[in-house]
Formats: sequence, structure tokens, C-alpha cells
Amino acid sequence: MFEYAPAPESRDVVGIRPSYGLFIDGEFVDGTGTPFKTVNPASEEVLAEVATASPDDVDRAVRAARKAFGGWSALPGSERAKYLFRIARIIQERSRELAVLESLDNGKPIRESRDVDLPLVAAHFFYYAGWADKLGYAGYGADPRPVGVAGQVIPWNFPLLMLAWKIAPALACGNTVVLKPAETTPLTALLFAEICRQADLPPGVVNIVTGAGETGAAVVNHPDVDKVAFTGSTEVGRQIARSVAGSGKKVTLELGGKAANIVFEDAALDQAVEGIVNGIFFNQGHVCCAGSRLLVQESIEAELLDALKRRLGTLRLGDPLDKNTDIGAINSAAQLARIRELSDLGEAEGAERWSPPCALPDKGFWFPPTIFTGVAQSHRIAREEVFGPVLSVLTFRTPAEAVEKANNTPFGLSAGVWTEKGSRILWMASKLRAGVVWANTFNRFDPTSPFGGYKESGYGREGGRHGLEAYLDV
Ligand code: NAD
Repeated sequence: MFEYAPAPESRDVVGIRPSYGLFIDGEFVDGTGTPFKTVNPASEEVLAEVATASPDDVDRAVRAARKAFGGWSALPGSERAKYLFRIARIIQERSRELAVLESLDNGKPIRESRDVDLPLVAAHFFYYAGWADKLGYAGYGADPRPVGVAGQVIPWNFPLLMLAWKIAPALACGNTVVLKPAETTPLTALLFAEICRQADLPPGVVNIVTGAGETGAAVVNHPDVDKVAFTGSTEVGRQIARSVAGSGKKVTLELGGKAANIVFEDAALDQAVEGIVNGIFFNQGHVCCAGSRLLVQESIEAELLDALKRRLGTLRLGDPLDKNTDIGAINSAAQLARIRELSDLGEAEGAERWSPPCALPDKGFWFPPTIFTGVAQSHRIAREEVFGPVLSVLTFRTPAEAVEKANNTPFGLSAGVWTEKGSRILWMASKLRAGVVWANTFNRFDPTSPFGGYKESGYGREGGRHGLEAYLDV
């Protein structure tokens, strides 16, 4: 484990401005709400002051999106594709800048923002650019129409990637958007707004309104928003579902998860250890589909835990901008408090807690990689989403027991299976109630694959051809 060396005046690295406005109708404008500050979670340094969009500002943004909709939706798909390809290329050209800004505002290691987030962000724009002139082949009728104005609200764990998941398909299908990024990570969405200008995207096609939950509520409840796309917690997803019920709006909800990562005794253990580490410690565990429950076959529990603990001892926690860092900062003080609370509860409920020796920096929000063994299914750490670098270990004897335990959760977003037996993989995949089942890998994403959950993990799919459905009327 490494000591944290704070980055010198990190805002200078990417030219962060002291303050930011809203992006409405192709212009940066003042907001009329009370501005808020966004901080670097690794140092608590204030990065910038950001405008809050009041309901009136949201109304302006929705009107701009409505005004732009006629022209944008009437463009031939091949013309919309040109804009999306242009945006994708600019994202690639500016990916260093975007990756650094993402790591500064979010706390994630630069190795991840540079090598995972940004390539996937560009890939989504390339992929959906390719669909823009082929919507007749999407399987939703020969001449599907765009839904209209999309109101999109996203979380802080993958700020740019969630933006790409939402904006790329919406635009490809001919919709216009009003997007609200999370209040702790607004900066890359605002840099994306600049990229829209650089790409000469017609004004009003993309509008970015910043602020907290009230701003999000104003977006989703605006009467002239036709489609609501939300990614975030199950609790807020539920509120949104209630508030738009009966409004006739099309809704997709991508919510929480509590995935089981299931390791059988015949699995390639070294590979499985890497998959477990990637599954729960990637992005500090701030991942909706994180493999937060390890289900290990009883016969190999001791061997697997030994190997896992050895591997955890080699992880480097520290400065997100250091390219050797494996584990960055927790995104906010509030999230850190939640992780601490649930972890303390894990101990109080009788599970055994283990972390490698790890000196945490004084400033910023940090939590060491943590494993709980002796976890029962009734424990809250086995049932609730921690959304942090905390792994709960449970055991099973038979495949049927693994399935029963894996499915024993209100969520159903993802699962992982580690075994050398192909037939077992297929059997498990057919029994697991999860939108994604990975086999001998974990947290593998691709713009061509649909992603989404069962049960309290939400409804609708993003990504792939299926991701177009949410943005088309047939
Ligand atoms: P959150 O629900 O607190 O906030 C998400 C977004 O909703 C933020 O932009 C927030 O400002 C906004 N918001 C808050 N209250 C609102 C309201 N009443 N109306 C409209 N908008 C409102 O979630 P979070 O803490 O930012 O993100 C973590 C959660 O997101 C986790 O539960 C995680 O599992 C989930 N998530 C899911 C996916 C997925 O694809 N299923 C992907 C990433 C994150």
C-alpha cells in the first residue's frame, strides 16, 4: 500500500474554470438556483463552483430541446451519424483531458478512466452513429420515429460513460436531450457540452443542466419531456416511477445491484482471483453491477481466500492521478459514511472483517479494500448495496444452492460464474435472475451488448440494438 501524495493544484492540470454555467440552447448561461461546489474527493480541494438549474432553468432547457427537435429529427439518419462520428472522434482526441478531469472530479484511478471509461465512451458514440441511418433494421418497424425530448438523469460512478449510454442512442434515433449529471461529478458533462459546440451540433439538441435531486426532479417531471431515462439508486428510481406514473412518458430505470460472483471448485483459481478483485474493487466498488457477494464452493474456500488476501496485499491505494494506483478515492463524504456504516454493521452482526495493512491519507475520502467472511444471507452487508470496496463472502456446496443464494436478493442486475464446465455455465445462466451473466470474466462491457436489470434493478435495456427501443416510437 502506498502513501497518498496530493497532486499540486490539480485544477491547473486540465484548465478547470473557477465557475461553470448551464449549457442551454448551445450556450453556457447562468443558473438561477444557488451554485454549488464540486470537490476533488482525493484532496477535498474545491475544483469549481457550478450553477444550479432551478425549475425555470430546466423549463428553458426543455423548450430549447423541443425547438431543436423538429430540425434534428427531420435530418436524414446519415446526417445525424456525421455529428455522432464527429463527437466520437473529438472524444478520442481529447480523451487525456477528459480522463484527467474524470479522475479529479470522481476519484477513480486514471488507469481506469484512461483505459476503460474513455475508450468505452468513444465506442458508444461510434456504435450508435452506425445505427443512425439503419433504424429501419432495428426491429421496431420499418420507419420508427424518435420519441421527442428525453430527460436524462445520471449518477456519479461513471459520469461520462453514463452520459454516453444515454445521449448517444437518443441522438442517433433523432431525439433531443436535457441531461442532468450528478452533483458530485458535473465537470466532464460540462466539458462534453463544449465538445458538442466543437462538433457544431445544432443548438438545443443537447442541453446540460446541473444541480442536485431537485433539478433532476424538475427534469423528469417536466410536462414536455416525452421520455425519462434514469440511472441511480433504487430508492430514487422508485420515487421517479411514482411521480411519472400516468403521465404517458416512456421510462427506463437502471438501478442498484448486489451481484453474486460464483466460483466453483473446478475454476482456474488465479483467473478467478483476478475476476473477484476486478469485480468488487474496480472503481472502488462504485459499480452497480459489482460482484459484491462472493459465493465460493465450500471445498475451495480456504485456498481461494488465501490467494485473494495475498492479491489484495499488492493493490495500491492512493493518488487517482498516479498511473500505478489501483484503488482511488471514495467519491464523497456521504458515500464514505454509508460504506463505514454498513461495514460497522457487518461486524456488529457477527461477520469477520479483514483488510490488508493500508495507510490511508489524512485528507480526502478513503476506504481500504475490505473482505467479510462468515457472512449469513440475513446480514445487511449480504443484502444491501454497499457501493464501495467491500466484499461479502458466502459459501455453497451444490450448483442448486449457488443459484438459490445468488437469486436471494431483491436485485437482479448481474452475476458471474467461474467454472471450466461449459454445460454448467449454460445451466447457471438459465437459472440466474440477472440481466447480465458473465462467465469466467467480470465487469466486461461492450456497446453492442444490452445491459439492464430484473426485479429492483430496474427495467429497460441500454446498449446494443435493444438500447434503441427506449428512444423510438413504432
Ligand atoms: P442517486 O439515486 O442518489 O442519484 C442519481 C441521480 O439522480 C443524481 O444525478 C441525483 O442528483 C438525481 N436525483 C436524486 N434525487 C432525485 C429525484 N427525486 N428526482 C430526480 N433525480 C434525482 O444515486 P447515486 O448515489 O448518484 O448513484 C449510485 C446508484 O446508482 C447506485 O445505487 C448504483 O447501483 C446505481 N447505478 C446503476 C447503474 C445501472 O446501470 N443499473 C449504473 C450506475 C449506477
